[in-house]
Amino acid sequence: MGAGALLSPGGADGCLTVLTYHRVLPRKDILQPPDQIDAACFEGHMNAVRNWFNVLPLPEALDMLHQSKLPRRALTITFDDGYEDNHSVALPILRKHGLPATLFICTGFLGNGLMFNDIVTEAIRRTQSPSLDLSWLGLGTRPVGNMQEKQGLVRELIQHIKYSRKDLREQTCDQLWHQCAGQNVRPSLMMLPEQVKELARDGMTIGGHTHTHPILSKITLDEARQDILTNRMALSDITGKTPQLFAYPNGRPLTDYLREHRDLVKEAGYSAAFCTARGVATRETDMFQLPRFAPWQASPTRLSVQLLKNARIGRHSVTA
Ligand SMILES: [Zn+2]
Repeated sequence: MGAGALLSPGGADGCLTVLTYHRVLPRKDILQPPDQIDAACFEGHMNAVRNWFNVLPLPEALDMLHQSKLPRRALTITFDDGYEDNHSVALPILRKHGLPATLFICTGFLGNGLMFNDIVTEAIRRTQSPSLDLSWLGLGTRPVGNMQEKQGLVRELIQHIKYSRKDLREQTCDQLWHQCAGQNVRPSLMMLPEQVKELARDGMTIGGHTHTHPILSKITLDEARQDILTNRMALSDITGKTPQLFAYPNGRPLTDYLREHRDLVKEAGYSAAFCTARGVATRETDMFQLPRFAPWQASPTRLSVQLLKNARIGRHSVTA
């Protein structure tokens, strides 16, 4: 990828591409969002980035960025939330290719917890009715007789309740689960604390991502501080190491987090933080608002186009 070297030089002009993933599904799942990739796609990505880029552990990459010593085509791999498939599906692929990664973990869901989007997805997956009466949510009656209809409703419901208050969101999830899945036990999708520990032991970097994944801009500053600190302490307990890197839940600057949350993360003792604004990090980028990019294209050619576009649009500081 010759153009990649031009768009991603090293040294004082060095820029760092930070990939971000959530789940790596064992196989395709139509109910998941389109950027939720499966094992085959992830394997293709890792193969491609190993050939095209210098893949670095994130702490090392940030040190090099600071010291103007970043190699050309520098890239690093991150995961958010703490899904079990990161351990069972992604880790073997990373190991096979000898690639390091950083995992930003939400400690409040480890074990049997489920994030709200997964409760919605798994509830709708389980309903056997041809339609659902969602008038209690102001959505009328919706058809759910086939997977396409279920897919549409999952996406709509997630958007519908994403920004509602945490207690209301939990109530909605409980009611929806009861309506769709009755007495069925919720599946376990998140890692166990021991698996996080194993990843850390295996040389992966573990970072903070809050305890309960709140949209920081929607809760009080005290609640945000508490959630950030609880997560940091829990991760220190699990891995025996205090995490130094943080990723904002949802991560959109000025929408999901504000300037004061950036300052909170710094005060908590973190040395760098990541948002979800696209682009690449340079020496000028705010170390507490480093951009990341979520690739989803399966073909290597399309992936390279995506990465080149990301490098071209984003060589600027994120300001909030
Ligand atoms: Zn997240």
